[in-house]
Amino acid sequence: MERSFKKEVDALRLGDGETFRGEGILAVTKALLQSGVSYVGGYQGAPVSHLLDVMVDAEDLLADLGVHVETCTNEAAAAAMLGASINYPLRGAVTWKSIVGTNVAADALSNLASPGVIGGALIVLGEDFGEGASVIQERSYAYAMKSSIWLLDPRPDLPTIVDMVEKAFELSEASHAPVMLDLRVRACHVTGEFLAKNNKRGAYSGQHRLAGPPRFEYGRLAHPPVIFTQERLKVEERLPAAQKFIREQKLNEVIPGDVNEIGIIVLGGLTNNLLRALARLDLADLYGASRIPIYVLNVAYPLVPEEVKEFCIGKRAVLVVEEGSPEYVEQQVNMILRGADIATRVLGKGCLARSGDYNSEALLRGIAAFLTQTRPTGIDADAVAKRAEEFLAHKPAAVAATGDIPARPPNFCTGCPERPVFAAIKLVQREIGPTHISADIGCHSFATFAPFSLGNSILGYGMSLASAAAVGPNMDRRSIAVMGDGGFWHNGLITGVASNLFNKGDGVLIVMQNGYTSATGQQFMPSSTASRTGEAPGMDIETTLRGMGVKWLRKVRTYGVANMVATLKEAMQTAERGLKVIIADGECQLVRQRRVRAEDAEKLKRGERVVRIRYGVDEEICTGDHSCIRLSGCPSLTVKPNPDPLRTDPVTTVIDSCVGCGLCGEVAHAAVLCPSFYRAELICNPGWWDRAVAAWRHRVITVLGGYVPKSAA
Ligand code: SF4
Ligand code: SF4
Repeated sequence: MERSFKKEVDALRLGDGETFRGEGILAVTKALLQSGVSYVGGYQGAPVSHLLDVMVDAEDLLADLGVHVETCTNEAAAAAMLGASINYPLRGAVTWKSIVGTNVAADALSNLASPGVIGGALIVLGEDFGEGASVIQERSYAYAMKSSIWLLDPRPDLPTIVDMVEKAFELSEASHAPVMLDLRVRACHVTGEFLAKNNKRGAYSGQHRLAGPPRFEYGRLAHPPVIFTQERLKVEERLPAAQKFIREQKLNEVIPGDVNEIGIIVLGGLTNNLLRALARLDLADLYGASRIPIYVLNVAYPLVPEEVKEFCIGKRAVLVVEEGSPEYVEQQVNMILRGADIATRVLGKGCLARSGDYNSEALLRGIAAFLTQTRPTGIDADAVAKRAEEFLAHKPAAVAATGDIPARPPNFCTGCPERPVFAAIKLVQREIGPTHISADIGCHSFATFAPFSLGNSILGYGMSLASAAAVGPNMDRRSIAVMGDGGFWHNGLITGVASNLFNKGDGVLIVMQNGYTSATGQQFMPSSTASRTGEAPGMDIETTLRGMGVKWLRKVRTYGVANMVATLKEAMQTAERGLKVIIADGECQLVRQRRVRAEDAEKLKRGERVVRIRYGVDEEICTGDHSCIRLSGCPSLTVKPNPDPLRTDPVTTVIDSCVGCGLCGEVAHAAVLCPSFYRAELICNPGWWDRAVAAWRHRVITVLGGYVPKSAA
């Protein structure tokens, strides 16, 4: 990882009584250290990548505390780490992005939850649901219920989040069950402050090691015949123990209100959105005081029936605010109340949307619908509904005023090494016709958007080759699977490559080797040329594939478009059967630029020579057909008015953000577009030779009839 988290690491050192200020996810990281964890691990993914990134940068501090940090190769490995808490009084935490990461970890999670734990085991989930999400819209709730893992969903406020992390370990130990901490995007990024405590050493750790393994106990294995006992323990002992702890420790909260005939039950993570919507409707103030009583479920699972009943008794109706479908909490509240013969009406979905993020707009509508249906004394439901409508009315008016705003899909960074590969695929498809493309998770999935629009399916991280297994044999042209090096090590090596070789598949696999898991923040991985300890991990994709028996393998520099086109055509058309792998090699440009810019800035400070490459378009030659833009999609290529008064088509121009990757020129050459691209070298602190060459060039060009200003020579 090339980015430094020094400031964040300093915040982790704060002690008793000092004020921590920062983001929710960093507060979680600090709370883990205050809780005496002995180990942490995880697999990166928004919105929780930061947790592991900061831990990795804080290695010195963690070594002092004896905390082991593991950067796992996937979420299954991270979940399996928690196995340390099954037999030993070791507190540990792992993290990943849910729901996709939880899917990968599911096997280990079941095998962890069945025997249960002695040491507190915490899973910090980045719940990527709702606006801005980048994964399938499902929730982690079902996993918690089916595996008897308790699910905390803290109110997005730093003291509450920190308190919930610390209590999570106690809850886990009191009930012998693992605990999940659900953090939505907004909770991860909410900023605030809390009073820090000293970091704690774990009961046992790298600084104070266990003397040896425990006495053999079959009940610690998730294996028959003890699985039947474990099922009973989960339901009859661990669940009641958890509910008792949640109730005694007051993990859930009640915000009182004066309109007591109704109430709102809300998942903790949605509390801020709810209070904001109530405030806009004049039913709450900016400090969180509400007119309608609110029961905040900082523990989303399990519910505590006594608390639900106490909150609902005497109320005519409650609204359950729980995003997504199915409505797990609403069903459970209904069951608890009906079972106790409490007649409180339960509303939820119907007033609120059945799908989608419960943002302020969704909640304004939902609260208005709830009040219109229940008409509590003391609130003018019609006035509230009118106010909600007024807030929402500006939307259609704004759409009418602005017209259709073009979609702005995400795109590769300027100079990304993956862009040329898709330009090459487009050129090859022009010649041999379209083929099925299995896309994958990673930056390269941006190729599914315009101008490339390449990709027919995405089945999960590292799954592209496996997802083409049944396509190839049913199609008269080879399919192409695209996979990143991150996906390769996460899952693709076994699920895709081994399976393909085992089944004698005949497709084409392109592995984008950019050196990092780039999309999640440029973390190192097994084939990176460096690691968190400095040395390269020493695992190589090419050697690995050859060792597994891949015979047709080419490594191609991505920016060489003509070479990439030729290699792809060969892979698609060769008579040789079997898996054909192209390793598309080019370092992530974002990392490269961070490094190169810092190095250049240092050189400039020392007055040393710095050369920057830029590309440009000769506006007199540009025909204005813009194929270069359509084929490369580079954001540094744009258009400007044609300087020739006799031509109306705007010409292409290269703007200052160009990093000089050379793709536009390569594409123009490989696609035989036009000769308008030129390459220029910008030299700062030129030496005598640079000046002499520039002067000579200037003279020659002037003699040949052109005038060149000195600065451009
Ligand atoms: S982060 Fe790196 S790999 Fe990803 S789009 Fe940017 S340059 Fe390309
Ligand atoms: S304008 Fe051309 S050289 Fe510059 S970054 Fe874009 S593709 Fe690369």
